[in-house]
Amino acid sequence: MIRSLLLSLTLLCAAPLASAQNAPAVALPKVKLFTTGGTIQSKGAHRQKLMEYSDGKVGPAELIADLPELKDIADVSYTEISNVGSPSVNTEIQLRLAKEINAWLALPDSAGAVVTHGTATLEETAFFLNLVVKSDKPVVVVGAMRPFTAVSRDGPFNLYNAVRTAASPTSRGMGVLIVLNDEINAARDTTKSNTYRMETFVARDLGPLGYTDSDQIVYYRKPTYRHTTRSEFDVSTLTTLPRVDVTYDYQEQDGTAIDAFVAAGAKGLVLTGSNADAVKRAQAKGVLIVNSDRKGAGRVVESAKGASQNRISADNLPPQKARILLRLALTRTQDPKEIQRMFNEY
Ligand code: ASP
Repeated sequence: MIRSLLLSLTLLCAAPLASAQNAPAVALPKVKLFTTGGTIQSKGAHRQKLMEYSDGKVGPAELIADLPELKDIADVSYTEISNVGSPSVNTEIQLRLAKEINAWLALPDSAGAVVTHGTATLEETAFFLNLVVKSDKPVVVVGAMRPFTAVSRDGPFNLYNAVRTAASPTSRGMGVLIVLNDEINAARDTTKSNTYRMETFVARDLGPLGYTDSDQIVYYRKPTYRHTTRSEFDVSTLTTLPRVDVTYDYQEQDGTAIDAFVAAGAKGLVLTGSNADAVKRAQAKGVLIVNSDRKGAGRVVESAKGASQNRISADNLPPQKARILLRLALTRTQDPKEIQRMFNEY
């Protein structure tokens, strides 16, 4: 009697499992990983090494193999774009990355894209993609503050959450996203704010868009400035971008840097203050001037005086991001009023 009771109990418990096994497999969202390098793909000499980790590089296949949990959330493929520290990410890499992402997202069955990137200049590439990706499908840029080999490394969970975010339909139309440390931030608004801590990416004036919490990818707000499918910038036929440089302001800045950048062929300059005489010399040579600021938060408000001097206000873009927008603006026009319109919209 007890034996037959036990037998029927075993059968009852086994039933749901058996039917789950026979159920048709649900196709997972197709997410492609585009790797460029950075700390997330770096190896240190030992597990406590959190700095000077140049003892090896991790390729995309190793990144994916290291995280078998990805198989439960997405069908992940990859393209290696580069494997460099982010200060070495250049125009050529950025253009190739944008073109490869656009080709991938144009496929009817692709769901989204994830880009690995060093954190030092991550926000620049993310903002560039925000302006030139031609799709509403999610593009998520991810990095890590600790190398692949470190104890308590942050890379794998950041990557897992980036893939979850890219696979989530709720991420569509949000523009390019930055995911680290459980937060989802807008590419335009976010900057690396700390050299060493894991809570480094912040949108100082505006806060995160949402979180990669364990129950769901959750959003609380949407970017309003133009991006991706509403952007007028098109890099599909470009092989280079106009030279734009940045000068940093401090007491007794005498304009040497401005003159040097103009002599080197700059078509535009982003300033964080200015030497009026050097600016006039630059403008006389047709160089476009954008006023940003070194404080890292807040708007540079448009002024009648600035406009009368053909100076463009960067809104609240930090200099390194104003540079990205000015380079793209110069592919369309030289007119300061038209470029000011772009700074007000993107
Ligand atoms: N040096 C690294 C870079 O490639 C820093 C990082 O990825 O966190 O930007």
